[in-house]
Amino acid sequence: MINIAIDGPSGAGKSTIAKAVAKKKGYIYVDTGALYRSIGLYVCRKGIAKEDKEGIKATLPEIFLELGYVEGVQRVYLNGEDVSGDIRLPEISMYASAVSAIPEVRAFLLDLQRDMAKKHDVIMDGRDIGTVILPDATVKIFMTASNEGRAKRRYKELLEKGVDTSYEEVLSDMIKRDKADSSREIAPAVPAEDAIFFDNTEFGIEESVDEIIRIIDEAIVGRG
Ligand code: C5P
Repeated sequence: MINIAIDGPSGAGKSTIAKAVAKKKGYIYVDTGALYRSIGLYVCRKGIAKEDKEGIKATLPEIFLELGYVEGVQRVYLNGEDVSGDIRLPEISMYASAVSAIPEVRAFLLDLQRDMAKKHDVIMDGRDIGTVILPDATVKIFMTASNEGRAKRRYKELLEKGVDTSYEEVLSDMIKRDKADSSREIAPAVPAEDAIFFDNTEFGIEESVDEIIRIIDEAIVGRG
């Protein structure tokens, strides 16, 4: 199986680029953030505080997550309910980041992610794909862009979805979340030793997609 790992901070364009690469190469795109977001949503709906680690852990046996694909687009089901829209709210981003720092939550999601990569050619986007989930991935890419560039993209996406927010709020939430994600003890969002860096601040989507495909093709040829 071909397994492409794409890690990096939020808003670096991972999902947009990975989705387009998946389409062109015939891989399945796996957005692992959606899994952490779904647990965050469940916890938020139950009124459990982000800081209440024991309370969050206690909900895990009540949660059943599945990934599905509708016309090639990933959907995530939380106890049978399609929550793909609800998990995108900014409040849920912060919940996702909080639950993702709990080792039991990460262990809970491990098999689901690895099974996808075992059964399909995948391009998997997350924070620890190259370091923890798929340490033997065919190619590992660490994608970044400037803070301002990333916040601008996120802000635009949220506006298009009708979410009431400001650029300043998006930028400050993003910096806070990235700091928490990259400095946590378990599976911090850091590049794998053998990851290829790709900073796309100055690149358009098409150019980024072409560049990632070039990196993948080169790695596959190199592997023989
Ligand atoms: O990628 P996305 O922004 O949707 O991820 C939401 C949150 O889920 C991240 O801020 C991070 O805390 C967590 N996450 C993670 N490991 C992954 C994917 C996401 O810890 N592989």
